[in-house]
Amino acid sequence: MRLSRYFLPILKENPREAEIISHRLMLRAGMIRQQGQGSFTMLPLGKRVLDKVCRIIREEQDRAGALEILMPTIQSAELWRESGRYDAYGKEMLRIKDRQERELLYGPTNEEMVTEIFRSYVKSYKDLPLNLYHIQWKFRDEVRPRFGVMRGREFLMKDAYSFDLNYEGAKAAYYRMFVSYLRTFTRMGLKAIPMRADTGPIGGDLSHEFIILAETGESQVFCHKDFLDLTVPGENVDFGNDSEIADIVTHWTTPYAATDEMHDEAAWGQIAEGDRLSARGIEVGHIFHFGEKYSKPMNAKVQGPDGKEHFVSMGSYGIGPTRLIAAIIEASHDDNGIIWPESVAPFDIGLINMKAGDAQCDRVCDDLYAALTAAGKDVLYDDTDQRPGGKFATADLIGLPWQLIVGPRGVAAGEIELKNRRTGERETLPVAAVAKRLGAAA
Ligand code: ATP
Ligand code: MG
Repeated sequence: MRLSRYFLPILKENPREAEIISHRLMLRAGMIRQQGQGSFTMLPLGKRVLDKVCRIIREEQDRAGALEILMPTIQSAELWRESGRYDAYGKEMLRIKDRQERELLYGPTNEEMVTEIFRSYVKSYKDLPLNLYHIQWKFRDEVRPRFGVMRGREFLMKDAYSFDLNYEGAKAAYYRMFVSYLRTFTRMGLKAIPMRADTGPIGGDLSHEFIILAETGESQVFCHKDFLDLTVPGENVDFGNDSEIADIVTHWTTPYAATDEMHDEAAWGQIAEGDRLSARGIEVGHIFHFGEKYSKPMNAKVQGPDGKEHFVSMGSYGIGPTRLIAAIIEASHDDNGIIWPESVAPFDIGLINMKAGDAQCDRVCDDLYAALTAAGKDVLYDDTDQRPGGKFATADLIGLPWQLIVGPRGVAAGEIELKNRRTGERETLPVAAVAKRLGAAA
């Protein structure tokens, strides 16, 4: 992409309304535009990151056996009356009427709708386990929308729903999502710690929030330092092997970790002081087993091997892709701007032409741009006539992992400079060696 033809509305000044660094940087880097309270447009740069985040989520949901669908945002109140939640949900729900005065709502979550789909088709245990997910906008009329996309009112959510014959099956489904989440967040360069969360009237221990430690997090969290060194399963992990998956979950739930609501001072006291980590955290995912909470009132049953009908045992599994973008920035930035992990970077490489219009610089840049693009790299080519200082500041602000700097002096010597955004390290390379150095040689 040539920057001269791109839409990258960089802000020079720090936006006053932004209280936390990720919100400030997303506005300054031209990633988002606020449209109303807690609602945002993803501008081109932001949309590219969102797509990469969603792609990782999809790949890991699919790997764990979940199937993607897409449910509508608008739902009928009737459906929510069946579960009893229409009245219970309160003011967070946006309620709407259509021209026939039918009561509708903008979905804050989809348990009811997915249960309705399930009960319409699935009648036998032989069709289980089943896990359906979608990535769709949600609306919640939050009391305090703030921090940009971190707590919006309209935000994107990946929500998955599992259906099983009994508790044992539901637990295995829960474990698969647990492991899938570990892999998902790691691939985004994040250390997410699964913490015991409140199960309310459902009871049991199958509820975890996945938390990123960050000073600006909204929750107070407590965990053992061991979490920082636990290994995350690789991509060959076998989701078809229940005991292998259960072992991973045991490994990841043994050290102490809890959010404020679940904190146990006695257990905390048992941990050596130097091993305690008491910090702020951002919730990026939440998995929850709720058994028959919806299947019973909504009559979602299957025939079991015993010939009898059983209410299915369910769980739900949420991740916030829009919140994740902000969480990644909170975890990875410096004074000059964002530092994207390669897996979610909007472009792989920023190619900076220090003297656009200079025939030699233009030729070297055009050739590099063509070669790197042909090799499958996403390149943002700064071909504008801005001064070099401004170009460097923009490149650092938007945080692409690599910067390739092409100037008249280097070009005369057949050389260009490569800068690593994370380490700040610079190396001078012969032009001919660039593609190979960036893993893009033919
Ligand atoms: P919170 O406690 O932060 O309000 P929640 O418990 O209401 O979160 P869930 O209903 O479990 O969240 O939703 C699943 C995921 O959706 C969360 O883990 C988070 O990543 C994301 N999410 C929830 N609310 C918002 C919001 N207002 N803005 C952006 N993302 C959100
Ligand atoms: Mg909430």
